[in-house]
Amino acid sequence: MQYFPIFLDTTALNCLVVGAGEVAARKIELLLKTHAKISVVAPWACDTVLRLAAEGKLHLDNRPYASSDLNGKKLVFVATDDSTLNAQVHAEATAQNILVNVVDNIPLCQFITPSIVDRSPIVIAISSGGVAPVLLRYLRQKLESLIPQKMSLLGQFSEKYRELVKQKLSSVTARRFFWEDVLDGDIAEDVLTGNHQQADRKLLAKLESGDAQHKGEVYLVGAGPGDPDLLTFRALRLMQKADVVVYDRLVSPEILELVRRDAEKIYVGKAKSNHTVPQEDINELLAKLALSGKRVVRLKGGDPFIFGRGGEEIETLVGHGVSFQVVPGITAASGAASYAGIPLTHRDHAKSVVFATGHLRDNTINLNWQGLAQPDQTIVFYMGLTGLAIICEKLVEHGLPLSTPVAMVQNATTQQQKVVTGTFADIQAKAEAAGIEPPALIIVGSVVSLQSKLNWFAKD
Ligand code: SAH
Repeated sequence: MQYFPIFLDTTALNCLVVGAGEVAARKIELLLKTHAKISVVAPWACDTVLRLAAEGKLHLDNRPYASSDLNGKKLVFVATDDSTLNAQVHAEATAQNILVNVVDNIPLCQFITPSIVDRSPIVIAISSGGVAPVLLRYLRQKLESLIPQKMSLLGQFSEKYRELVKQKLSSVTARRFFWEDVLDGDIAEDVLTGNHQQADRKLLAKLESGDAQHKGEVYLVGAGPGDPDLLTFRALRLMQKADVVVYDRLVSPEILELVRRDAEKIYVGKAKSNHTVPQEDINELLAKLALSGKRVVRLKGGDPFIFGRGGEEIETLVGHGVSFQVVPGITAASGAASYAGIPLTHRDHAKSVVFATGHLRDNTINLNWQGLAQPDQTIVFYMGLTGLAIICEKLVEHGLPLSTPVAMVQNATTQQQKVVTGTFADIQAKAEAAGIEPPALIIVGSVVSLQSKLNWFAKD
């Protein structure tokens, strides 16, 4: 981040605005939403500024800028059409360590003003650092429509009871659970629909009854194959609630970014034949964290129940009486197939699809090869990269033609996605030449022949 976002307390903030045209007026109107003390200096002022001065909302000096105008100021906005003057004010302010912003002139800005979605006391500030203003406007519109205007009411409601709740509930965690319950449930609805007295009554009753005690839980969440856009709403919501997140290697950094900022993050990653934390220990860890009252998100690549050992983890939880929920994710086969343009069961090509593990153990893969080597069937191998040669050999041995199309998809759905296609005869050489590495899937079957036509994502 080149720009570090902060929120300035404006109670005793003296601001100078040099210039009083329409551009300056827009900044002034923004500043007037705050408590800042505003002085404006300009030989000429537009109607808006004149009106605001007449209303006593700012102090206007109708004269050219003088260096002494900077005295006692903390923040300066410069909005004149005289570039020499703009540069002069910038230089003088900088020399005195006063933060200066020359409007629409990024090189002369020590700070920039973000786009704002105002639901005071909740304020959302967003910025593109000046490089993508249209995208920024688009995002702001999205936020404006996403966040109810009445969110302000909830902010004010929280503010009203903050101290009382703090007195009644001494632990930070208890307070957080309390507020999450309030904001998630019917009390918030009462506030939003204007039933303030009812909301007050319910909150006080809840506080008295002390039902702020929470038991820990585990959310076993499928994080999908990599692209954060493929998370489910439920996954995201629970990730935002987590006290702790336990994740492994297949969970992309972009997805981890979406976990609640102050959640503890525990890595239990597995690289092939390098099990950082043994599975039994992971199972026990989840139970232990939940039993200590934490909300635990167990984040897994793809879908937790597809080659994800999710079943084992929740078996342990059942044993300990810990409650849990399972959130499905998009499994790598689905992600890879969609993003590579390989419809797994295109009806001209396949009547069934099988997900199989290609994991090598003692140099063999123990699978029902006869059952797999069927015409009209697509096979997707997980964990099959090192076993590729054996997979090709076995399927040919059991009757599939050497010309059967095969695809390898690495890092499916991410910007690093790589797709290589060939046949049993040449896929190994092609995968090697392309430097295919884990995580990668192998897709076998005539549906792969559609890839060259249907491929749409990250083509070059
Ligand atoms: N539960 C996961 C699978 C875990 S097994 C799921 O449902 O997707 C790990 C294997 O998944 C890897 O060896 C690889 O074959 C496959 N895999 C996971 N993410 C992948 C990705 N983004 N691209 C390609 N293969 C992936």
